[in-house]
Amino acid sequence: MKQYILKVISVEKVTHDVLQIRLEKPAHFQFRPGQATDLAINKEGWKNEIRPFTFTALPSADYLEFNIKTYPQHQGVTNQLLQLKPDDELIISQPWGTIAYKGPGVFIAGGAGITPFLAILRLLNSENKLADNKLIFANKTANDIIHKEEFENLLGANFINILSDEEHATYAHGFISKDFLQQHLAGPTHYYYVCGPRPMMNSVLNQLHELGVKDEWIVKEEF
Ligand SMILES: Cc1cc2nc3c(=O)[nH]c(=O)nc-3n(C[C@H](O)[C@H](O)[C@H](O)COP(=O)(O)OP(=O)(O)OC[C@H]3O[C@@H](n4cnc5c(N)ncnc54)[C@H](O)[C@@H]3O)c2cc1C
Repeated sequence: MKQYILKVISVEKVTHDVLQIRLEKPAHFQFRPGQATDLAINKEGWKNEIRPFTFTALPSADYLEFNIKTYPQHQGVTNQLLQLKPDDELIISQPWGTIAYKGPGVFIAGGAGITPFLAILRLLNSENKLADNKLIFANKTANDIIHKEEFENLLGANFINILSDEEHATYAHGFISKDFLQQHLAGPTHYYYVCGPRPMMNSVLNQLHELGVKDEWIVKEEF
């Protein structure tokens, strides 16, 4: 598969453990919002440590962007990315992935599983097509919600938060449950886009099936 070695333009912390990394974009590079790429750090000892991350900038932007949750305890790639600075280099592959926008619906994300939806919602906004879409974002605490103001601006009352580890005045508390999902169910011809860690995915997919949502209306990717 074709690889690109790309210079880092900027690295910024968007929450206590999430980095927003912008890279130079190769000429004529194309991706579809929702797609990911295989990424490695162009540094001795790390070039073959490849991990998947999702493009989050608009396809029309003149840079590539990633929002990456870091796990220092893994001692893996995301921990190394904490040392990244402008002019360092990353290696990426061609875009790939199963998540693509098919039509209005409910986006259900857990933690870093928000990234494909960030890309899709930004594109829908740029095309004035956000109406009829809703985002349910599950996190541990309010400090873990990435790009909170941006989602509030994009979606208003259609941005719904649920926190598992913190009581909050305006957000739901606990894990996503069948009752909670039922409150936010869309019409029969709406899609359900689901992305997050395996336990959350298994639970939400079971709940959607129990609520009568057929597989052809579900778009999913496990993180
Ligand atoms: C299609 C796709 C797109 C993705 N896009 C994004 C994205 O845009 N943003 C994002 O933040 N994430 C994204 N992810 C998730 C991301 O790929 C992982 O978080 C990332 O690979 C973690 O890399 P790592 O090297 O830091 O840790 P890992 O590869 O998970 O772990 C490295 C090593 O740490 C050890 N380890 C593993 N788990 C633990 C643990 N719990 N405690 C201690 N040690 C442990 C293991 O020995 C492991 O080999 C995506 C995943 C997929 C499948």
